[in-house]
Amino acid sequence: VTTVNVDAAVIGAGAIGTATAFHLASRGLKTALLDQAEPGSQSSPRAAGLAVQVRTNYHFSEIARRSVDAIVAFQDATGVPLAYRQAGSVAIGRTDAAAARAREHVELGARNGVSVELITPDDVRELAPYADASSGKAISYTPTDLYLEPEELVRAYLKACENLGVIVMPYRKAEAVVAAGGAVSGVSTRQETISAERVVVCAGPWTASVLESVGLELPVQAVRHALVITRPIDSVVSGQAAVRVIDANVYARPCRGGLMIGGYESQPLFVEASEYSAVEALPLDATVIHELMARVELELPLARHTEIAVLRGGLPTLTPDGLFLIDSAPELEGLYFATGCNVGGLSTAPAVAEDIATWVSGGVKPPDLTPFSLRRFAADGDPDALRERSRSSYTATEFG
Ligand SMILES: Cc1cc2nc3c(=O)[nH]c(=O)nc-3n(C[C@H](O)[C@H](O)[C@H](O)COP(=O)(O)OP(=O)(O)OC[C@H]3O[C@@H](n4cnc5c(N)ncnc54)[C@H](O)[C@@H]3O)c2cc1C
Repeated sequence: VTTVNVDAAVIGAGAIGTATAFHLASRGLKTALLDQAEPGSQSSPRAAGLAVQVRTNYHFSEIARRSVDAIVAFQDATGVPLAYRQAGSVAIGRTDAAAARAREHVELGARNGVSVELITPDDVRELAPYADASSGKAISYTPTDLYLEPEELVRAYLKACENLGVIVMPYRKAEAVVAAGGAVSGVSTRQETISAERVVVCAGPWTASVLESVGLELPVQAVRHALVITRPIDSVVSGQAAVRVIDANVYARPCRGGLMIGGYESQPLFVEASEYSAVEALPLDATVIHELMARVELELPLARHTEIAVLRGGLPTLTPDGLFLIDSAPELEGLYFATGCNVGGLSTAPAVAEDIATWVSGGVKPPDLTPFSLRRFAADGDPDALRERSRSSYTATEFG
């Protein structure tokens, strides 16, 4: 078995891992990035690519806002092209509770320095002609929200990694994190040992399995989340705003001349990630999307009558409070992890990764990561009960 010597090893080359490897290398660390599959091939490229800045909580919003800034600045900062559409996003509230949420976006946005305004159904006709917002009791609009093709974000970070000399290792499964004397010493794969004093596990739904090798249990739950892209529709043009209907938990945006539509189903399929070696093995079910479309027949009238061109899905991870799980291992120096994306980790990877790299390279945890610590669940005890709360967070959360 050969040995690869680096300063830092990143396990998992999705959005979070590629961005983390990039930021570690840009801080001068010799970095290896390994993936058990093709880099950038799992949940990340299957995401909707929506970057919504006003989220369920100030800290999540802050990460989301900084990430939008980083996406906009990416090309200038790295020299690698990255296309995005800063077309804004519209949130429609049809019930009293959802309308209150839409109104709240203005104030929540202001706390994070994100400008949000209340608009009328006529405004929506201009911004997103494919949507009918006449049922909206209140409608918010965030002009600086953006969307992008998710695979392009990962590809751009991979290119930026290569430019900085990151050792990208496809088809390398981390079998175990290797430790000695209370500190990490590397990662073992079947092909080689990677010797590194710092290891960051960004293995999406498989993060929990990787960490089991060092006895750490995480209160996360993987869930199937899916979307469709319809065949082209005449009135849908790239550059129109994204739309979500808060109380229906359904989102849409222009994509490939048609509409991309996804959302949060009422009977989600929770899975044991360890039973799947890759998301390709995940069974998809179009009836889930038909159920979502039926909820928004009035708001997205074209969707249901247009043929579906693409059905795709992946495995995001849920936490009891809907916030990331990003921390270092309590009893093993040099081991870090990031999971619990709660269906928001593609668009927030830029800021998450920057903060992780700052921490790993400099030793000081950036304050923006504090709310995502594993320790916040320490008093809650029972891992099964925590995972049950993670499951209910999916259906309880309004994608507001
Ligand atoms: C349909 C859908 C729509 C979504 N929409 C959005 C959206 O609009 N906006 C948004 O921000 N987010 C969205 N998400 C969520 C987003 O996809 C995830 O938050 C994001 O992809 C998480 O990135 P990741 O890097 O953690 O995971 P992944 O992309 O899953 O990457 C993890 C990687 O780790 C590798 N790996 C696992 N185990 C090992 C091992 N032992 N050794 C080596 N490698 C390993 C895997 O092969 C994989 O490549 C959506 C998700 C889905 C499924």
